[in-house]
Amino acid sequence: MIADNVRKVKEHVPKGVVVVAVAKNRSLNEVKAAVAAGLNNIGENRVQEALLKYSDFRPEKLHMVGHLQTNKVKDAVKLFDLIHSVDSVHLAREIDKQAKNLNKVQEILLEVKTSPEASKFGFSPEVVEQAVKELICLRNIKLRGLMTIAPLSRGPEEARPYFRQLREIRDNINEQNELNVLSMGMSDDFEVAIEEGATMIRLGRAIFEG
Ligand SMILES: *Cc1c(COP(=O)(O)O)cnc(C)c1O
Repeated sequence: MIADNVRKVKEHVPKGVVVVAVAKNRSLNEVKAAVAAGLNNIGENRVQEALLKYSDFRPEKLHMVGHLQTNKVKDAVKLFDLIHSVDSVHLAREIDKQAKNLNKVQEILLEVKTSPEASKFGFSPEVVEQAVKELICLRNIKLRGLMTIAPLSRGPEEARPYFRQLREIRDNINEQNELNVLSMGMSDDFEVAIEEGATMIRLGRAIFEG
């Protein structure tokens, strides 16, 4: 089933777009099936669950997509290749600090709250550019782009304005910051997200449910 799902998803995803299989509440065997089907990017939304799951087996790239608490930052930096859900300057500074201790440059995205109903977390659109300016000088984080969660809706078209807004926010921030990654789009709306410029989509049900 998972292999079939991956094949179907890949038919709809252009080469340059990274598929992150979001494996929260899925077993390690399900993760392994997704990896065997060719997905090298696995996402989790809780540090504790990821710590337990990936003690022996590690996918090529691990992504943190859920809200991150400051007291979990040290473990998160040890574990994850990309943290999508950085939602405050305070959190980013803590990540920088812990990454420094571990001699790592942690790649991060800033989560933007394009819709107040979709998520409690994220920078409001008006303050993203200022946050980028504050964080760009930190040496142990590397700001790779932006992430957003669109509201649950009656159809994928309803999500389009939120995806478009994220891309516009990115485009308006000075190019030299190299914010290349736009992490947006989930199982119900990833095709619209890709049309609006997503470079990374986060799929749970489309991969793991049949
Ligand atoms: C669970 C989750 C996803 C995947 O959601 P699906 O609708 O199952 O594709 C994507 N992003 C985040 C932040 C999630 O928590």
